[in-house]
Amino acid sequence: MKLVMLGAPGAGKGTQAKLISQQFDVSHISTGDMLREAVEKETELGIKAKAYMDEGRLVPDKLVISMVQERLGREDCQNGFTLDGFPRTVAQAEVLQDMLERIDKGLGMVLDIEVSEDMLIRRLTQRRQCRKCGKIYHLANNPSATEGVCDECGGEIYQRVDDEESAIKKRLEEYHSKTKPLISYYQELGLLRVIDGQQGTDDVFEDIKRVLKASRV
Ligand code: AMP
Repeated sequence: MKLVMLGAPGAGKGTQAKLISQQFDVSHISTGDMLREAVEKETELGIKAKAYMDEGRLVPDKLVISMVQERLGREDCQNGFTLDGFPRTVAQAEVLQDMLERIDKGLGMVLDIEVSEDMLIRRLTQRRQCRKCGKIYHLANNPSATEGVCDECGGEIYQRVDDEESAIKKRLEEYHSKTKPLISYYQELGLLRVIDGQQGTDDVFEDIKRVLKASRV
Protein backbone atom coordinates (compact mmCIF):
# COMPACT_ATOMS: atom_id res chain seq x y z
CA MET A 1 0.00 0.00 0.00
CA LYS A 2 1.54 3.29 -1.13
CA LEU A 3 -0.60 6.30 -0.29
CA VAL A 4 -0.36 10.06 -0.42
CA MET A 5 -2.50 12.25 1.84
CA LEU A 6 -3.41 15.59 0.28
CA GLY A 7 -5.27 18.44 1.93
CA ALA A 8 -4.78 21.90 3.37
CA PRO A 9 -3.03 22.43 6.70
CA GLY A 10 -5.51 21.43 9.40
CA ALA A 11 -7.47 19.05 7.15
CA GLY A 12 -6.57 16.09 9.34
CA LYS A 13 -3.92 14.45 7.16
CA GLY A 14 -1.66 13.62 10.08
CA THR A 15 -4.39 12.13 12.26
CA GLN A 16 -5.73 9.97 9.43
CA ALA A 17 -2.28 8.96 8.18
CA LYS A 18 -1.49 7.68 11.66
CA LEU A 19 -4.71 5.64 11.80
CA ILE A 20 -4.14 4.18 8.33
CA SER A 21 -0.57 3.22 9.16
CA GLN A 22 -1.62 1.49 12.39
CA GLN A 23 -4.51 -0.38 10.77
CA PHE A 24 -2.63 -1.53 7.66
CA ASP A 25 0.85 -1.87 9.15
CA VAL A 26 2.61 0.56 6.83
CA SER A 27 5.06 3.35 7.67
CA HIS A 28 3.70 6.81 8.40
CA ILE A 29 5.99 9.38 6.85
CA SER A 30 5.29 12.94 7.90
CA THR A 31 7.69 15.43 6.33
CA GLY A 32 6.50 18.06 8.83
CA ASP A 33 7.46 15.80 11.77
CA MET A 34 10.80 14.93 10.14
CA LEU A 35 11.59 18.60 9.58
CA ARG A 36 10.52 19.57 13.11
CA GLU A 37 12.83 16.87 14.46
CA ALA A 38 15.68 18.23 12.34
CA VAL A 39 14.99 21.74 13.67
CA GLU A 40 14.92 20.49 17.26
CA LYS A 41 18.22 18.63 16.79
CA GLU A 42 19.74 21.59 14.97
CA THR A 43 20.99 19.45 12.09
CA GLU A 44 22.23 21.13 8.90
CA LEU A 45 18.81 20.54 7.31
CA GLY A 46 17.00 21.81 10.42
CA ILE A 47 19.00 25.03 10.51
CA LYS A 48 18.21 25.69 6.84
CA ALA A 49 14.50 24.78 7.19
CA LYS A 50 13.64 26.64 10.40
CA ALA A 51 13.05 30.16 9.04
CA TYR A 52 10.78 28.88 6.26
CA MET A 53 8.75 26.77 8.66
CA ASP A 54 8.33 29.46 11.31
CA GLU A 55 6.92 31.83 8.70
CA GLY A 56 4.60 29.22 7.22
CA ARG A 57 6.45 29.02 3.91
CA LEU A 58 7.34 25.78 2.16
CA VAL A 59 10.89 24.53 2.60
CA PRO A 60 12.71 24.49 -0.78
CA ASP A 61 12.02 21.38 -2.88
CA LYS A 62 15.66 20.31 -3.06
CA LEU A 63 15.97 19.95 0.71
CA VAL A 64 12.69 18.11 1.19
CA ILE A 65 13.13 15.81 -1.79
CA SER A 66 16.49 14.45 -0.68
CA MET A 67 15.15 13.92 2.84
CA VAL A 68 12.20 11.88 1.48
CA GLN A 69 14.35 9.93 -0.98
CA GLU A 70 16.54 8.78 1.87
CA ARG A 71 13.51 7.91 4.04
CA LEU A 72 11.68 5.89 1.38
CA GLY A 73 14.79 3.82 0.77
CA ARG A 74 14.72 2.44 4.31
CA GLU A 75 13.67 -1.11 5.12
CA ASP A 76 10.47 -0.15 6.98
CA CYS A 77 8.99 1.34 3.78
CA GLN A 78 9.21 -1.89 1.81
CA ASN A 79 5.77 -2.97 3.05
CA GLY A 80 4.27 0.35 1.99
CA PHE A 81 3.78 3.82 3.42
CA THR A 82 1.41 6.72 3.96
CA LEU A 83 2.99 10.00 2.93
CA ASP A 84 1.67 12.88 5.00
CA GLY A 85 2.67 16.36 3.86
CA PHE A 86 4.59 15.22 0.78
CA PRO A 87 4.39 16.02 -2.08
CA ARG A 88 3.42 19.67 -1.67
CA THR A 89 4.50 20.96 -5.07
CA VAL A 90 4.22 19.60 -8.60
CA ALA A 91 8.04 19.31 -8.75
CA GLN A 92 7.96 17.09 -5.65
CA ALA A 93 5.16 14.97 -7.12
CA GLU A 94 7.09 14.44 -10.34
CA VAL A 95 10.18 13.27 -8.46
CA LEU A 96 8.04 10.90 -6.39
CA GLN A 97 6.45 9.40 -9.52
CA ASP A 98 9.87 8.84 -11.10
CA MET A 99 11.27 7.35 -7.96
CA LEU A 100 8.42 4.90 -7.37
CA GLU A 101 8.13 3.85 -10.98
CA ARG A 102 11.82 2.99 -10.98
CA ILE A 103 11.61 0.77 -7.91
CA ASP A 104 8.05 -0.54 -8.17
CA LYS A 105 4.70 0.04 -9.82
CA GLY A 106 4.05 3.48 -8.38
CA LEU A 107 1.51 5.03 -6.04
CA GLY A 108 -1.66 3.16 -5.15
CA MET A 109 -3.88 6.10 -4.29
CA VAL A 110 -4.02 9.76 -3.34
CA LEU A 111 -6.58 10.76 -0.71
CA ASP A 112 -7.60 14.41 -0.80
CA ILE A 113 -9.16 15.42 2.52
CA GLU A 114 -11.44 18.40 1.95
CA VAL A 115 -12.34 20.89 4.69
CA SER A 116 -13.77 24.43 4.42
CA GLU A 117 -11.42 27.38 5.06
CA ASP A 118 -13.40 28.45 8.17
CA MET A 119 -13.02 25.06 9.75
CA LEU A 120 -9.30 24.89 8.85
CA ILE A 121 -8.62 28.15 10.66
CA ARG A 122 -10.62 27.07 13.72
CA ARG A 123 -8.77 23.77 13.85
CA LEU A 124 -5.31 25.24 13.40
CA THR A 125 -5.60 28.02 15.97
CA GLN A 126 -6.79 25.55 18.59
CA ARG A 127 -4.41 22.75 17.63
CA ARG A 128 -1.78 21.60 20.08
CA GLN A 129 0.83 18.87 19.63
CA CYS A 130 3.03 16.67 21.79
CA ARG A 131 6.65 17.69 21.46
CA LYS A 132 7.81 14.10 22.03
CA CYS A 133 5.50 11.73 20.09
CA GLY A 134 3.73 14.21 17.78
CA LYS A 135 0.19 13.31 18.94
CA ILE A 136 -2.29 16.00 17.95
CA TYR A 137 -4.82 17.57 20.33
CA HIS A 138 -7.49 20.25 19.97
CA LEU A 139 -8.23 22.63 22.86
CA ALA A 140 -12.01 22.33 22.50
CA ASN A 141 -12.72 19.02 20.75
CA ASN A 142 -9.91 16.76 21.87
CA PRO A 143 -7.97 18.08 24.86
CA SER A 144 -5.48 15.97 26.83
CA ALA A 145 -6.66 14.60 30.20
CA THR A 146 -4.10 16.75 32.05
CA GLU A 147 -3.47 20.20 30.61
CA GLY A 148 -0.11 20.43 28.85
CA VAL A 149 0.74 16.72 29.26
CA CYS A 150 0.44 14.11 26.49
CA ASP A 151 -1.97 11.25 27.33
CA GLU A 152 0.16 8.79 25.39
CA CYS A 153 3.76 9.47 26.33
CA GLY A 154 3.69 12.13 29.07
CA GLY A 155 5.52 14.57 26.77
CA GLU A 156 4.98 18.32 26.77
CA ILE A 157 2.05 19.63 24.72
CA TYR A 158 2.79 22.88 22.91
CA GLN A 159 1.49 25.19 20.19
CA ARG A 160 3.54 25.05 17.01
CA VAL A 161 4.96 28.45 16.02
CA ASP A 162 3.39 27.95 12.60
CA ASP A 163 -0.06 27.44 14.18
CA GLU A 164 -0.06 31.09 15.24
CA GLU A 165 -2.30 33.35 13.19
CA SER A 166 0.18 35.10 10.85
CA ALA A 167 1.88 31.84 9.89
CA ILE A 168 -1.50 30.13 9.32
CA LYS A 169 -2.40 32.79 6.76
CA LYS A 170 0.89 32.21 4.92
CA ARG A 171 0.50 28.42 5.03
CA LEU A 172 -2.96 28.62 3.50
CA GLU A 173 -1.63 30.93 0.74
CA GLU A 174 1.20 28.47 0.06
CA TYR A 175 -1.34 25.64 -0.05
CA HIS A 176 -3.53 27.44 -2.59
CA SER A 177 -0.70 28.52 -4.88
CA LYS A 178 1.67 25.53 -4.70
CA THR A 179 -0.10 22.43 -3.37
CA LYS A 180 -3.64 22.69 -4.76
CA PRO A 181 -2.43 22.14 -8.36
CA LEU A 182 -1.62 18.59 -7.24
CA ILE A 183 -5.34 17.82 -7.15
CA SER A 184 -5.61 18.02 -10.94
CA TYR A 185 -2.17 16.43 -11.35
CA TYR A 186 -3.32 13.29 -9.52
CA GLN A 187 -6.81 13.44 -11.01
CA GLU A 188 -5.27 13.15 -14.46
CA LEU A 189 -3.26 10.15 -13.31
CA GLY A 190 -6.52 8.54 -12.12
CA LEU A 191 -5.23 8.26 -8.54
CA LEU A 192 -7.32 10.86 -6.71
CA ARG A 193 -10.14 10.07 -4.25
CA VAL A 194 -11.87 12.90 -2.38
CA ILE A 195 -12.77 12.42 1.29
CA ASP A 196 -15.12 14.68 3.28
CA GLY A 197 -12.87 15.89 6.09
CA GLN A 198 -15.55 17.96 7.82
CA GLN A 199 -16.79 14.93 9.75
CA GLY A 200 -15.42 13.64 13.04
CA THR A 201 -12.16 11.66 13.05
CA ASP A 202 -13.83 8.23 13.23
CA ASP A 203 -16.24 8.94 10.37
CA VAL A 204 -13.45 10.26 8.15
CA PHE A 205 -11.49 7.09 8.86
CA GLU A 206 -14.51 4.88 8.05
CA ASP A 207 -14.82 6.64 4.67
CA ILE A 208 -11.13 6.15 4.00
CA LYS A 209 -11.32 2.44 4.81
CA ARG A 210 -14.33 2.06 2.51
CA VAL A 211 -12.47 3.75 -0.36
CA LEU A 212 -9.32 1.69 0.19
CA LYS A 213 -11.29 -1.53 0.37
CA ALA A 214 -13.28 -0.77 -2.78
CA SER A 215 -10.09 -0.09 -4.73
CA ARG A 216 -8.11 -2.97 -3.20
CA VAL A 217 -5.00 -0.79 -2.98
P1 AMP B 1 3.13 20.08 8.34
O1 AMP B 1 3.43 19.52 9.69
O2 AMP B 1 2.91 19.03 7.30
O3 AMP B 1 2.02 21.10 8.36
O4 AMP B 1 4.46 20.86 7.88
C1 AMP B 1 4.97 21.94 8.62
C2 AMP B 1 5.89 22.79 7.76
O5 AMP B 1 6.99 21.99 7.32
C3 AMP B 1 5.28 23.35 6.49
O6 AMP B 1 4.56 24.54 6.71
C4 AMP B 1 6.53 23.58 5.65
O7 AMP B 1 7.24 24.72 6.09
C5 AMP B 1 7.37 22.36 6.00
N1 AMP B 1 7.09 21.23 5.09
C6 AMP B 1 6.55 20.02 5.43
N2 AMP B 1 6.45 19.23 4.35
C7 AMP B 1 6.92 19.95 3.30
C8 AMP B 1 7.07 19.69 1.92
N3 AMP B 1 6.69 18.53 1.37
N4 AMP B 1 7.62 20.67 1.15
C9 AMP B 1 8.02 21.84 1.67
N5 AMP B 1 7.89 22.16 2.96
C10 AMP B 1 7.35 21.22 3.79
